[in-house]
Amino acid sequence: MRLVRYQKPGQPPTQGWLYNELVGPLEGQLTGEFRRMEANLPLKEVRLLAPVLPSKIICVGRNYVAHAKEHNVEVPEAPLLFLKPPSSVIGPETPISLPPQSAQVEHEAELVIVIGQRGRWITPQNALTHVLGYTLANDVTARDLQRKDGQWTRAKGFDTFCPLGPWIDTDFDPSDALITCHVNGDMRQMGSTRDMVFSVRQLIAYASTVMTLEPGDVILTGTPSGVGPLAPGDVVEVAIEGLGALRNPVEANQSYESPKS
Ligand code: ZN
Repeated sequence: MRLVRYQKPGQPPTQGWLYNELVGPLEGQLTGEFRRMEANLPLKEVRLLAPVLPSKIICVGRNYVAHAKEHNVEVPEAPLLFLKPPSSVIGPETPISLPPQSAQVEHEAELVIVIGQRGRWITPQNALTHVLGYTLANDVTARDLQRKDGQWTRAKGFDTFCPLGPWIDTDFDPSDALITCHVNGDMRQMGSTRDMVFSVRQLIAYASTVMTLEPGDVILTGTPSGVGPLAPGDVVEVAIEGLGALRNPVEANQSYESPKS
C-alpha cells in the first residue's frame, strides 16, 4: 500500500492513498487506525506533498563504507546520529533553495524509515513492528559549512534541505534495493541498501536507546558514495528500486539580501 499527502488546488492538505495512478482519501489516523476511501482522483490533478510531517528527522552519517572513504573518514563503531529540523522538509517537485551562506551544497540520496508505532529501548528483533513503511529523502548538505562548523546543524538544517516522498510504501523490502541519484539525467550516485553498515533494525534499536520514537518520525539511513554539488537550474532525482523516485528542482535563494560589509 502506498500512502500519500496531497492537495487539490485551493483545498487543504489531505492524507490519502495511491492505487494505479488514482488517489483517494483516508479516514482516521495515518499512524493509527484508518480506512481507505475510494481512489478516483487522477494523480495528475493533485499535488503530492511530503507524505509525513515528522516531529523528528533522525539521520545517520557514514552508513556506507564507500561514502566514508570518499571523505577520508572512518566508518563509525556505532551509528553516528544527527538531526535535521522539521522546517527543512519539502515535498516532491518543490524547489531546493540554495542558501547564500554556502558555496557547496550537495545531494545525498537516502532510504527513509517511517515510524508507525511509538517506542523506546526497542530491540533489533522487534524493530520492524515499529515501522509504518519506507520513503525516500535527499539529505541536502552544505558541505563547506559542515567542515567549517564541526557541528552539522547549520549544514544540514536549512529550509528545503529535506525533500521527502513521494509516498510511504508499507510493503517495501529494504534489505537489498538499488539506490541512485541523478542530476539533470546524469547518474551521480549508485549503491545498494545491502551495503549499509548498520541495518534498518539496528538503526531503529540504536536511535530508540537515545530518544522515544514517535509515530511519523523518520530515520534517514545514510547515503552511498558519489555525492556532488547542486547548482541553480539543476533537477535532482533520488530513486530506489521498487520504491519510487523523488524529484526536485534547484534554485538560488531569492529572498536574501547580502549584507554590505
Ligand atoms: Zn546523509
